Amino acid sequence: MMCQKGFQYGRWGNPTRNNLEGCLAAIENGKHALTFATGCAATWSMLSILKNGDHLLCAFDVYGGTLHLMKMVAEEKGIDLEFFDAGNLNEFEKLLKPNTRMVWFEITTNPMCKVVDAKRLAEISHKRPGVLVVTDNTFMSPYFLKPLNLGVDIVMHSMSKYLNGHSDVIMGLLVLNDDNVHIKLRDIQHHGGAVPGPFDCYLALRGLKTLAIRMKQHMANGIQLANHLKKNPRIEQVFHPGLPDHPDHDLLKKQASGYSGMLAFTIKGAGEKETSKFLKALKLVTYAGSLGGCDSLAEAPGSLSHKYLSEEEKRKVGITDNLIRCSVGIEEVEDIINDVDQALEAAFKN
Ligand SMILES: *Cc1c(COP(=O)(O)O)cnc(C)c1O
Repeated sequence: MMCQKGFQYGRWGNPTRNNLEGCLAAIENGKHALTFATGCAATWSMLSILKNGDHLLCAFDVYGGTLHLMKMVAEEKGIDLEFFDAGNLNEFEKLLKPNTRMVWFEITTNPMCKVVDAKRLAEISHKRPGVLVVTDNTFMSPYFLKPLNLGVDIVMHSMSKYLNGHSDVIMGLLVLNDDNVHIKLRDIQHHGGAVPGPFDCYLALRGLKTLAIRMKQHMANGIQLANHLKKNPRIEQVFHPGLPDHPDHDLLKKQASGYSGMLAFTIKGAGEKETSKFLKALKLVTYAGSLGGCDSLAEAPGSLSHKYLSEEEKRKVGITDNLIRCSVGIEEVEDIINDVDQALEAAFKN
């Protein structure tokens, strides 16, 4: 029995959360959206529908926290967790088993900014019945790419990043079309209770109003910084799929209408010391491990965002001591470029 106006207790829902979820379902072109207290709570809720003995396939270069959580849950519940290379879908196909229940990947990888062919990956996975294909769309945002349109079953987001966009909210999201899976996940949301508070939902709704304008600026600034870095003799390599010579450029153009402000680069001849000096010399750009806010951030994945990876895992992903990941913000691009240039010089001064 419903109480007055359909709201009886805040864990089940409140008008602001319902409005936010309606808005998020619409922008990801899905039927149902569920918000969670954090991105990791959304991931954990998703993993909760797996049972002992189920096979879970996860791309090896996903967000470090996701990797950690998957290993933890798999060990606790006796889930058969296996990692795959989302850049090699022929090999991926061979890994699917009769008990495969879930495939997890990120459409653009972290921190190397490779692009995954989501449509093909979903098609291959769906050759087997009962496989849920889940993608973390945090790096792209629905402004540039809506994975449900490509045949993916469930879209996950850390809304703490581009969707909220102001680095002042921690929140997670799942969007899907399937009614039965939605009921299961909604029960986990209601009874597990990892829900966002109404004020955070209000802030996220405020952030969404400027999603389009922010994403356009992130993209324009990211491409300009990438092009500038390519010409700087201090730089070894720039990783940005929006550049025409990036190996995944055509794939990006085929499946997305643009790209966010995420890029990575390596500093020529830099070891741990010079990399750290570079980060500390930045003035406008903040040395921090998050991403997707209005302010530009930079970090070294090897010592911050991906420090929990083993040396072998780092090698496999391509993380070296001189690798910098940058979340390019929406400031005046000249200011960002000048700051990065001066910090590159400072990294090699005594
Ligand atoms: C930050 C992040 C997460 C985790 O989300 P939280 O909101 O920090 O819990 C998951 N995936 C990606 C790609 C992220 O960047």
